[in-house]
Amino acid sequence: MKLSIVFKIFQITIIITLLINVILTLLLQKNHIKQQKAENVRYKSYVIAEELKQSSDDLTRYCRSYVLTGDNKWENKYWEVLDIRNGKLPRPDGKTIALVDSMKKLGFTKSEFDKLKVAENNSNELVWTEKVALNAIKGLFDDGNGNFSVKANPNLEMARRIMFDEKYHEDKKLIMAPIHDFFEMLDKRTHDTVLKYKVFNSNLLRVIIGLIVLILTIGVVSFFIVLKNIIQKMKVLEVSNKLIMTKNDELSRFTYIASHDLQEPLNTIISFSKLLKEGYYEKLEGIGQKSIEIIDNSTMRMRSLTTDLLEYSRIGKKAKPEKINVNVLIANIELDLTELIKKNKAIISYDNLSEIVAYRNELRMLFLNLICNAIKYRKDTIVPQIRIEFEEGTYEYTYAVIDNGIGIDMKFRHKIFEVFQRLHTNDHYSGTGIGLANCKRIVELHKGEIWVRSEINKGSTFLFTIKKNLINE
Ligand code: ADP
Repeated sequence: MKLSIVFKIFQITIIITLLINVILTLLLQKNHIKQQKAENVRYKSYVIAEELKQSSDDLTRYCRSYVLTGDNKWENKYWEVLDIRNGKLPRPDGKTIALVDSMKKLGFTKSEFDKLKVAENNSNELVWTEKVALNAIKGLFDDGNGNFSVKANPNLEMARRIMFDEKYHEDKKLIMAPIHDFFEMLDKRTHDTVLKYKVFNSNLLRVIIGLIVLILTIGVVSFFIVLKNIIQKMKVLEVSNKLIMTKNDELSRFTYIASHDLQEPLNTIISFSKLLKEGYYEKLEGIGQKSIEIIDNSTMRMRSLTTDLLEYSRIGKKAKPEKINVNVLIANIELDLTELIKKNKAIISYDNLSEIVAYRNELRMLFLNLICNAIKYRKDTIVPQIRIEFEEGTYEYTYAVIDNGIGIDMKFRHKIFEVFQRLHTNDHYSGTGIGLANCKRIVELHKGEIWVRSEINKGSTFLFTIKKNLINE
């Protein structure tokens, strides 16, 4: 399967998993709030159930205290507890709400309320018993219709008996038993609710963590796939680089041998054509003379072609960078070109061109090519002037070979550095189209760059750089 498709699948899986994770995390948050609420309800339910139990005990205690001491404060307290429980007086927290209503608010279930109802009914009966005891102390007795209108002497003995006898004890049990059951039900229900959320949330958390692990795994796997691929590609690149280098070497060798071997018979032909020209040219006429001229021109062209090719194949071979005085190098080139310079009345000028480390033969070839071109592509009517300039940068030296020749159309500024690319191909300018390609290779050998600035009919400036510290490379 193609790597890009594998990545697309990975990408989509990661995005989907991330989205699911976001949704699950939101759900977890929501459920966590629910769990907290359930825990809160459980706590409040406890408090309220405890309050009910407590108030029941308080009623007994206050009533008993009253029948024992006859102190009104206990009776007041008794009614106060009852009124708070029934929502007629405010509770200690300031809220005036019946205990039953608080329970409804907290969502107590029907079966819980049923249990409470049993407790309440039994409790009402006990409250009646307690009322009988309370009124007996005051000398008031039940008239049979639920009213304490019958007056007589206070009966302390009776009140105490009612509050402490076996029956009271049993009645009290009848209230406490359903309350106890209610407690257990409440405990189980709220505990189950909280547990349900807890289990759900912890499972959710496990899924989320699992998905995160999945995303991480996919990430790591894709990282390793990329790494493996890069390493593989680098290996392929290394092999093909080696192959290219060997091919380049082979090509250079072939070019060298071919051009070298071509030059030998070529030189013989050239000598013979010279002999022919000198000895027989005058004797021949018309087509004969023309043939000799054609042979002469063609062989000269072939020689410059083989010379250029030889140069091309020699660039960078068996060479080491060395210290070169560029002023001396240019002076030598001028010497070699004396005839050409004289013939064209060319003027070459330069100041201090510095001492640099470079490949001697190659640098010479580079300047020679540029200077020869500057002379070759001169403007007929103007004396060719060539100026060589130098500038030292932090990492490189820059040279400029400036001429006042015919100039170059800037749209060909890259093309001219390619092999066999010539702009001026008429008879006036003979050439092979290899010179600037050679220059480019030489500059690359010096880890530099070459480029041209030019304006048609005004001249051209060829600039190139040479990297400093070539020896240390
Ligand atoms: P050639 O053997 O044709 O001179 P080069 O590779 O040296 O080959 O140059 C490529 C082409 O670039 C030339 O054919 C010419 O058209 C153009 N050229 C090179 N140098 C100059 C220059 N100094 N002025 C104008 N044109 C130039």
